[in-house]
Amino acid sequence: MINIKEIKKQLEQANSLCELEALRINLLGRQGVLNSYLKDLKNLPLDERKKRGEELNLIKEELECIISKKIEAINRSLLLERLKKDSIDPYLPPFPINIGRMHILNRVINKIIHVLERLGYEAVEGPEVETEYYNFEALNMPLHHPARDMWDTFYLNNGKLLRTHTSPIQIRAMEANKLPIKIIASGRCFRRDNPDASHSPIFHQIEALYIDKGVSFAHLKGTLEYFARSMFGREQKVKFILSYFPFVEPGAEVAVKCVICKGRGCITCKQTGWLEILGAGMVHPEVLERQNIDYKIYSGFAFGMGAERIAMLMYGINHIRHFLDNDLRFLNQFKYNLED
Ligand SMILES: [Zn+2]
Repeated sequence: MINIKEIKKQLEQANSLCELEALRINLLGRQGVLNSYLKDLKNLPLDERKKRGEELNLIKEELECIISKKIEAINRSLLLERLKKDSIDPYLPPFPINIGRMHILNRVINKIIHVLERLGYEAVEGPEVETEYYNFEALNMPLHHPARDMWDTFYLNNGKLLRTHTSPIQIRAMEANKLPIKIIASGRCFRRDNPDASHSPIFHQIEALYIDKGVSFAHLKGTLEYFARSMFGREQKVKFILSYFPFVEPGAEVAVKCVICKGRGCITCKQTGWLEILGAGMVHPEVLERQNIDYKIYSGFAFGMGAERIAMLMYGINHIRHFLDNDLRFLNQFKYNLED
């Protein structure tokens, strides 16, 4: 017969999970002690078999209960031992957690796109490596056109070039889209400029293009006034200065009241009180005609700006280099979203 007392004693003395598991297998496993008794039941007379069976089942339940309690006790003592060894001080301050955030330039670009999206513009992108056709010819600058000098261009060995502005995206949109067109094109641009405080060989442009029946300069003015106020504050004043770009007619530079001196005159605005923020104009009929858009029915405007310049004016950043340096002392100044 099973010596239950002895078994309980053995279980009680087990002090590791390994030891306990070995005992469990020996007692309750398929080849275990209890099973061998259960197998022998069939040799007993019926009435004894029933009684004995019940007894064995009770023993089995009891042993299972003892073992699970013992496992719990061993685990608890192991945990206490570990806690004693690696003591935790809940009053220590936690390690600082550095959470990444979007680069200030990207945030400014997103804000510009967001403002224009509210007016129904759709954001599109295009390739950085372009052909002469998209970068110049289609924009009313045939070969040897003097205006090409305005863009010092990086040419590639395969005859292509690095786009000098995002305007090629406008041409691609005119080719692909059905009219009307209302897009924002943004991305990296490249020019062989000598680097200085406001010029870098790599910079970001954002442009908008709107072509529909009856689009006029008044629409352009309204759009840019809304844009300037959304970016630089409700009271912002906007000035249009006649200017030349080959792909628009008429063309204009757009200036806002100096955000640094509020129009009184300072070094940033060269004492004029105004800051030019973007170039704009009515899309040149030549450009429309090239894309088979009937300029007698359709008209449109375009405007474009350097994202770095806008960010520099919004945050008083004094050198374009800071955007590329990845200096955390600079980047960490801009901890919050622009909408905050
Ligand atoms: Zn100023």
